[in-house]
Amino acid sequence: MPDEMASPLIRGRGGSRYFEATMSELDAPVIGILGTGDFSRSLARRLVASGYQVMVGSRTPKRSVALFPEEAEVTSQMEAASQADLLFVAVFPEHYSTLVQLKPTLAGKTLVDVSNALQINKDGPSNAQQLADLFPESVVVKGFNTISAWALQMGPRDGSKQVFLCSNSSQAKNAVAQLCQRMGFIPVDMGRLSSSLEIENHPLYLFPSWRIPVLCTLILFTVFYLYNFIHDILQPYIRAGKNNFYKMPIETVNVTLPSVALVMLALVYLPGLLAAFLQMWWGTKYRRFPNWLDRWLTRRKQFGLCSFLCAALHAIYSLSLPMRKSARYKLLNLAFKQVKNMVEDSWVEEEVWRMELYVSVGILALGLLSLLAVTSLPSVSNTVNWREFSFIQSTLGYCALFMATLHTLLFGWDRAFDPAQYHFNLPPTFMLVLILPITVLLGRMVLFAPCMSRRLKQIRRGWEKSRHIRFILPEDNGYSGPEDISNV
Ligand code: NAP
Repeated sequence: MPDEMASPLIRGRGGSRYFEATMSELDAPVIGILGTGDFSRSLARRLVASGYQVMVGSRTPKRSVALFPEEAEVTSQMEAASQADLLFVAVFPEHYSTLVQLKPTLAGKTLVDVSNALQINKDGPSNAQQLADLFPESVVVKGFNTISAWALQMGPRDGSKQVFLCSNSSQAKNAVAQLCQRMGFIPVDMGRLSSSLEIENHPLYLFPSWRIPVLCTLILFTVFYLYNFIHDILQPYIRAGKNNFYKMPIETVNVTLPSVALVMLALVYLPGLLAAFLQMWWGTKYRRFPNWLDRWLTRRKQFGLCSFLCAALHAIYSLSLPMRKSARYKLLNLAFKQVKNMVEDSWVEEEVWRMELYVSVGILALGLLSLLAVTSLPSVSNTVNWREFSFIQSTLGYCALFMATLHTLLFGWDRAFDPAQYHFNLPPTFMLVLILPITVLLGRMVLFAPCMSRRLKQIRRGWEKSRHIRFILPEDNGYSGPEDISNV
C-alpha cells in the first residue's frame, strides 16, 4: 500500500504513463485550469486520467511546465482562457483581482471556484459570489473545495467522494456534475450560488454535531469522578485515615465510566420519549418542537456512540483489574487472613450468583451496544431498510438500555439498603445513575399502554385534536385516512 500511495497516477514529463491513465483523446473536451499550485497539479492529473484535454494557465508557464504530466499543456493564462469553455480557478481568492484582464476572454464561459475560506464566514459574500461579481459575464459554479489535492490524485479509490456543487446556471452545473462523475466523484447538487457560503464553510467546521454529546460526556465524567472520589477515597481517608488514593487511576475511573455510559444511553432515548409525550399533549405532530429538543433528537447517534465508547472502556478496565499489584496483594492478604483464622470455605452462594448474573448481563449489554454502534455507520445503515434500522436502533436499543440498567441493579444488589454505603450521607453512585434510565424505561412502558400507543399512532398518521378529525387506523377496518367530523 505505501508503494501504491507513493507512485503518481501519471508520470511526469518524459516518464512512462501509469497503467490507470488513459490517453487524452484529441476530440475530448478541453478543460482549463488557472493556477499551477498543488490543487491545479492534482486536478490536471485526474482530468488527463479521465480522458480530458487540459490547458493550464500560468503567469510563468516555463517555470511550471515540468510539474505537470506531458499530456497537459501549460501555457499563458490568456491562452488557457481562450481555448477552454470550462475553467477551474485554482488561485487563492485574494488574487482573483489579478485575473480581471481575462474578463473579455472569459465572457460566456464557466468558471469553477474551488477556493476555501480561511475562517468560518457567516455573513458572506462567499469567494464564489465575489468571483461572480468580478466576472459578471461568466457563469460561476462552486465546487471541489471539499476535495483535497491528495483525494483528487487518488480519485475514487480513496478520500471523500462527494463533491458539493452550486450555481445559478443549471446548465453549467450539469456540465460540471458530468465532469465530476467522469472523474469518479459523486456530485451533490446544493442549489443556487447562495449555497456557496455553506459549501465554503463546510471544511472548516470541527465536528459540529459532536460538540454537545462530547461536552455532555466530559461533564458527566467529571461530576461522577469527583463524586466517586469523595465517596470512596476522601471519606475513608478523613474518617479512618485509610489511604485509598491508589484507586484513582483505575478503580475510580472504572466506576465512573459505566455511570457515564448508562446516563448517556438513557439520554439517547429520552428526547424520543419527550417528543412523543409533547405530541400527545399537543394532540398534533404538526407543531414544531423547541429548538433544543430538535437539536437533541438529531444528536442521538453521537450520544449513543459516546455511551458505547465509555462502555467499551469500562469492559477493558474491568478485565485489567486482576492484573494490578494492589489486587494481588489484597487477594494474598485475604488468603492469609483465612488461613490465620482457620476459615475453610469462603464460598458465599449469594455473592457467586450476583457476580455471575452481573457479568453475563454486562456482556450482553455491551454486545447490543456494539451492534447499535456498527449499524449507525453509514455504510452499514445504507444496507438495511427503514424497518430493520428502526428495529435495531429502537427495539434493540431499548433492550440494551434495559440490560445495562439490570447490570447496574445487579451491581447494587442489596447495597442500597446498607447504611455503610452512605459515606458522608451520600448515596452510592449506582443509585444516582439509575434514576434516568429507570425513568426512560418506565416512560417507554407507559407509551406501550394500548390507549397511549393507539393515540400516538393516530397523531403520527396526521390526526389532530383541534381539527375534530376522527381518524381510523388501517388495521382497525382497512380504511386509512381522516374523516371530518367537525359538524358532528
Ligand atoms: P498554491 O499551491 O499556492 O497555488 C496557487 C496558484 O495560484 C499559484 O501556483 C499561481 O500559479 C496562481 N496564481 C495566480 N495568480 C496569482 C497571484 N497573483 N499570486 C499568487 N499566485 C497566483 O495553492 P493551491 O493549494 O493549489 O490552492 C489553490 C486554490 O485551491 C485555493 O483557492 C485553495 O483554497 C483551493 N483548494 C486547495 C486544496 C488543496 O488541497 N491544495 C483543496 C481544496 C481547495 P502561477 O504562478 O503559475 O500563475
